Amino acid sequence: MSIRETRILLSDIEHPESPTLDFYLSGGGYKALEKALKEMTPKQVVDEVTKAKVRGRGGAGFEAGRKWQFLPKNNTKPVYLTCNADESEPGTFKDRHIMERRPHLLIEGCLITCYAIGAKTGYIYVRGEFPQAQASLSSAVEEARAKNLLGPDILGTGVSIDIWVHTGAGAYICGEETGMLSSIEGGRGHPKLKPPFPAVEGLFRCPTVVNNVETLSNVPFVIREGADAFLKLGTADTPGTRIFCVSGHVEKPGVFEYECGVNLKDVIAAAGGVWKGRKLKAVIPGGASAHVLLPHEIDVACDFGSLAKAGTIMGSCGVVVIDDTTCMVETLQNVLEFFAHESCGQCTPCREGTGWARKIVTRIEAGKGTMADIDRLYEVADNFEGMGGKTICALSDAAAWPTKSYVKKFRQEFEEHVRLGRCPMKGA
Ligand code: SF4
Repeated sequence: MSIRETRILLSDIEHPESPTLDFYLSGGGYKALEKALKEMTPKQVVDEVTKAKVRGRGGAGFEAGRKWQFLPKNNTKPVYLTCNADESEPGTFKDRHIMERRPHLLIEGCLITCYAIGAKTGYIYVRGEFPQAQASLSSAVEEARAKNLLGPDILGTGVSIDIWVHTGAGAYICGEETGMLSSIEGGRGHPKLKPPFPAVEGLFRCPTVVNNVETLSNVPFVIREGADAFLKLGTADTPGTRIFCVSGHVEKPGVFEYECGVNLKDVIAAAGGVWKGRKLKAVIPGGASAHVLLPHEIDVACDFGSLAKAGTIMGSCGVVVIDDTTCMVETLQNVLEFFAHESCGQCTPCREGTGWARKIVTRIEAGKGTMADIDRLYEVADNFEGMGGKTICALSDAAAWPTKSYVKKFRQEFEEHVRLGRCPMKGA
C-alpha cells in the first residue's frame, strides 16, 4: 500500500530558511509557548501532555506526562530539564534533522516543558559528533533570547527560563540518562544505579526530567492544537507521528514522518524498496539494538505494542534494510564491534561479555570458529543480558538482543561459516 507522510515535526525542513526564527514565527512558531505561559497553569500543561499520551521517542516509549508527574511534590530544590540529544544508535539519525533544520521547535518544546515542571534551567545535551546541530541550536537560542522568547520575564509574563546547549564528547553511553547527567556535571559519562531515579535525584542531585529531542518537539503541537488532535494521529497504543530513518539497502534512504501504526512493509516500499532489484534478507526495525526481523515478519504495524508482540522493539525507529547479498555474521560482528567499544566498563558482564562475544563472532566470520562457538556466542549474550539486575544500564541488553536474534534466526549461516572454513558470501 502506498503511504503519505504526515509532517508535524519535519514540516518545511527542506526550506533553506527553516532553521531561522523569522521562518519559524511565520508558521505559527512560539504560539504554543505564548498560550502555555499566558492561558494555562503549569498543571494544565502537564495534564494536557499526559492526556495526549506522548510516549518517549528515545526508545523506551515511557509516557512523558507521567514521567513529569514523578517529580516530588513540596520540593524545595531547583528542578532541571535535560533534553537528551546524544543520538548515536547505529541506524538512527532522526533527532539530528530536528536540531539542524527546526531548532526552534525543540527550543519551544523545552521552554513549555520547563514551565510545566517548574524548571528555570534546561540543558540540551548534544552529541559531540553533531557540530551542525550544535551550531544551529546555539544560534536559535541566541535568536530566541534576543526576541525575549527565552531568558528573564519571557513575553512579559514574569516567567524566566534559560536553555543551555551542552556538547558531549562523543560517547554513546552518554545517551543513557544518568550517564548524560554525570557528563553535564563535568564527570565521566558513567551510568549510575537506579534508584534514585533522576526525577527524585538527578542533575546536581536535584529533581530532573530527562526527555528525548523528538519527544519534546511534540509538545508545541499538543499545546497549540490540544491533546485530542494529537490522539487522532497514530494508534491508541502510540498516538502521534514518528520519524523513521530508513537506511541500508533501499533505493531512497532518508527520514520520513508517518503516523504511528504505519505498516513496516509500506515504510520500506516508500523508501524505494530493496535496492538493485535484490531480495530482502532481514530488517532491523528500531536501531542496532533491536531484534532483527525476517522478511515474513515485516507485515507489522509500527507502534510500541505491535512491534513488541512481533518480538522486537520500536526503539529509535532506525529502520535498517538488509539485502540477500549480506553476510549476517559480518553484520553481527559490526554491531558487536560498536557495543564492545562503547561499553563504559563498570560492569563485568557487559565489559567482558561484549568483548568476548565480539571475539567469537570475529572468529566465526574468519572461518576459524567451531560449532561449539555458535552455542557459546548465544550463551555469552544470555549472560550479559542485563535483565534482572546484572548490570547498571541497558547497554548490555542492547548488545545481547541482536546477538541472540541473529544466532537464532540465521543459525544455518553461522554453521556454514564453520563447515566451509570461510565466509560463504566472500567466495572461495
Ligand atoms: Fe557501563 Fe555496560 Fe555497565 Fe552500562 S552495562 S554501566 S555500559 S559496563
